[in-house]
Amino acid sequence: MEQKTKNKFNNIPKRPEADLFGQSGSLPARDEELILVHRQRNGEVLALNEINNRLEEKKSALEIRLNAKNRELRETAQVLQKEIEDRTRELEEKIEESQNSRVALMNMLEDMEDLRRRAEEESEKTLAIFANFVDGMIFFDSGDRLILANSRMMSYFGARKEDINQIKGKKIGELKEFAGFAPLVDFVKNSLSTISRKELFVSDKVVFEISCLPVEGKYGKVGTLLIAHDISREKMVEKMKTEFVSIAAHQLRTPISAIKWTLRMILDGDLGPISEEQSEFLEKTYKSNERMIHLINDLLNVTRIEEGRQIYDIAVANLGKVVGELIPGYVDIAKQKNIKIDFSNHAAEAPLVKVDVEKIKLVISNLIENAIKYTPLGGKISVVVECENSWVKMTVSDTGMGISTEQKERIFTKYFRAANAIKMETEGTGLGLFISKNIVESHGGKIGFDSYENKGSKFFFVLPPSNK
Ligand code: ADP
Repeated sequence: MEQKTKNKFNNIPKRPEADLFGQSGSLPARDEELILVHRQRNGEVLALNEINNRLEEKKSALEIRLNAKNRELRETAQVLQKEIEDRTRELEEKIEESQNSRVALMNMLEDMEDLRRRAEEESEKTLAIFANFVDGMIFFDSGDRLILANSRMMSYFGARKEDINQIKGKKIGELKEFAGFAPLVDFVKNSLSTISRKELFVSDKVVFEISCLPVEGKYGKVGTLLIAHDISREKMVEKMKTEFVSIAAHQLRTPISAIKWTLRMILDGDLGPISEEQSEFLEKTYKSNERMIHLINDLLNVTRIEEGRQIYDIAVANLGKVVGELIPGYVDIAKQKNIKIDFSNHAAEAPLVKVDVEKIKLVISNLIENAIKYTPLGGKISVVVECENSWVKMTVSDTGMGISTEQKERIFTKYFRAANAIKMETEGTGLGLFISKNIVESHGGKIGFDSYENKGSKFFFVLPPSNK
């Protein structure tokens, strides 16, 4: 197009000036005018061409810029388009995610509801068990305030089920004024920390076994449970048994004593001479009778302890001396088993003790007799009396069969004999240590032991000084 414009202006015929002047020699005015116009026109054409060229240049520059801008815009549009697509995708993902979260949340809510319902059911079950339990129960929270008490517990202590609201939130000490709770409060001694299975005698006929259990939760103690188990019936049966044993033992004592003295008289020849063989048989019978007397005495002691009828004749005594007097009586018996007894009294200067000497002798004899009985031939026994923290202690150590770990906790219970003891020494009642424990504790003392099976045992008791 540029080309075309140029040609258009170039095609205007030029008339050479020499030609025009040469032919005529004098130019008419009109021609000069025409030449002038022509020249003017040519100049204008040139100027126009120039303008046109410039315009063309501008136009192409503009076109280039326009193209560049277009390209730029297209690219921006593409970037925007991509961004929109990305954002849209992102939004769609987010929407999907939030929908999923919503579904998950709904599921969680459903699960929570389920759990809540189950927890409610569990707590209802627990409450129902608590309410209908055969034993009386009171639950105190971690601040020792009463939270729950079942109707059994209320009725045990003379209250009605509906009265629970009057005692809710109260501390154990505050229950003293309420219904018949006073004996329980006195028994628990205003504090819930220490009782574990002890007997509470509410009256002659009503006895409860009270247990105090700390209730532990995931994060520590949540409260305390006080349980009252009615053992009135067991106590009554036990009492009847004790009464029966007491009567039977008393009844047996008289004929057995008569047998003892008759045998003694025959053996001593008071009723005429007897042969050696007869004497041997009668000696054996006499010993068996002695064992029977021992057993009957043990039974009588037990019944006295159980009925609270044990009478103590208290006097001030030197324990070392009492033991020292008893030892010689056992040296010969021990010798028969080739057992050596060592006695050391480190308590010559020890304080005196307040005891019923006969009862304490029973304890000392029982510990020494056991050491001899449960130590095999050739063993060793040592008896020591010493002072320990101003108390007086007696220890009997032996190198005997010892006591197995599993049976240790039953050693002081009535009629208990360990399996190894039954095997080695068939005679025994399992009453000696039960009686000894009761006697020592009645004197305000303590009894205990240390033992290793097949190695030996160490039985000891301590008594407070007489000035305490
Ligand atoms: P008994 O000796 O008549 O059986 P005790 O009450 O005196 O009754 O003792 C109870 C049980 O304790 C014994 O049967 C025995 O199992 C165990 N025992 C007591 N003393 C000893 C001891 N020194 N060595 C091993 N076991 C012992």
